[in-house]
Amino acid sequence: SRIPRIVILGAGYGGIVTALRLQKELNYNEADVTLVNKHDYHYITTHLHMPAAGTDDPQNARVSILKLIDEFKIDFVKSTVVQIRPNDKKVILEDGTLSYDYLVIGLGGEPETFGIPGLKEHAHFIRSINSVRLIREHIEYQFARFKKEPHRKDYLTFVVGGAGFTGIEFIGELADRIPKLCKEFDVDPNHVKIYNVEAAPTALPGFDPELVQYAMEVLQKKGVTFKIGIALKECTPDSITLADGEEIKTQTVIWTGGVRGNRLVEEAGFEAMRGRIKVDEYLRIPGHEDVYVIGDCSIVMNEEGRPYPPTAQMAIQQADVLAHNLVASIRNSSLKTFKYESKGTVASLGKNEAIGIAMGRKLKGGSAAMMKKIIDLRYLYIIGGIPLVLRKGYFN
Ligand code: FAD
Ligand code: NAD
Repeated sequence: SRIPRIVILGAGYGGIVTALRLQKELNYNEADVTLVNKHDYHYITTHLHMPAAGTDDPQNARVSILKLIDEFKIDFVKSTVVQIRPNDKKVILEDGTLSYDYLVIGLGGEPETFGIPGLKEHAHFIRSINSVRLIREHIEYQFARFKKEPHRKDYLTFVVGGAGFTGIEFIGELADRIPKLCKEFDVDPNHVKIYNVEAAPTALPGFDPELVQYAMEVLQKKGVTFKIGIALKECTPDSITLADGEEIKTQTVIWTGGVRGNRLVEEAGFEAMRGRIKVDEYLRIPGHEDVYVIGDCSIVMNEEGRPYPPTAQMAIQQADVLAHNLVASIRNSSLKTFKYESKGTVASLGKNEAIGIAMGRKLKGGSAAMMKKIIDLRYLYIIGGIPLVLRKGYFN
């Protein structure tokens, strides 16, 4: 009989780890596996706040896909998916078509702007290598412009919308970078303003209040002004407006107010909530048992019936079970049930500062920063072994 075809869409956390597990588990000629991704590199999304602020080189947050996978076992196709057609079991790429017997959707998230006017057009997003390179260059450019037009204080006003983990991690890096840019461009640091606007009654809603307090104090000491409990409600090319009517003049808005699933998921006709699909206990789409969904495009419910937040940790754990289930489907053996086990959360606040809960313990400061490094290195090890840890892990 014909060899089953597995197509994996997206080489993010979910997709790349699924591919690596399949390449290990599958026997020769048991299945044809194709991995499709927009770029020929995988990006380490969890590092993107650093190249965005310019505290790290974007090069360090990307890894060539062909260095990770074994081309004898997995076909890699560099292309953009434009449509998923579940009824025809086909995926349409910008430059071709793929047929599948089993599909894995790991296309990741997109920024959620909740229809707030002007955000899509004028804000920046921490999303990909391309988007963070733009943020980094844009920030530097504002310093250069200010030297030519020193009355334009708005050039040196930076607004981050949303104080979730992405916003907080980025702010930590930005606050570290500003003094260096001031030196480089001979700018008085007093001219620079960094605002973090959060609609919820607290930064990092839902996280441990003592650690949130600590994080805010660290960031305030680095010069960040928080506007908490106030929603950003409009963005124009040179300002933002808050729910209380205040207008802040700025040329730089970084929006970290939320993520949604990939639009292609809804366009395919699957039942989705903001681009995310509630999967069954085996990580398949109910009613489409040949389609698996992973990472930010999937929803897994916790015991209280609420969706778990979309994280890399979640995507990696799903990949293990998903790869097992694909192999089991092909071999007609039994599928595994997915159950998420949180290993904790650690977030950086810039150099040598972090907060987190790991192994049931609260961490802050240097010990949390150390834990963050260990988590980062562990991921590099999972996808690329020791060689990748040595190439991309920072030991500064
Ligand atoms: P992604 O990793 O986003 O990958 C999606 C892939 O699909 C990408 O390679 C993309 O190029 C590709 N793609 C998209 N559209 C197409 C298309 N049309 N055609 C072809 N390819 C396409 N989570 C944690 O657990 N811990 C952290 O410390 C953490 N830190 C974070 C820090 C930042 C700054 C950010 C932004 C997020 C962080 N997260 C963290 C969240 C985590 O990054 C995401 O949950 C995770 O990346 C989701 O993985 P994924 O596989 O679903 O998608
Ligand atoms: P998020 O949804 O977690 O946070 C968005 C924040 O923006 C929320 O606090 C929300 O109240 C706020 N917001 C929404 N609308 C607003 C408005 N109009 N004005 C002002 N504020 C508004 O998004 P995120 O921070 O990008 O995180 C996405 C996922 O990635 C989460 O699951 C998160 O846990 C994960 N992540 C984890 C880490 C880590 O573990 N270190 C780091 C980054 C992201």
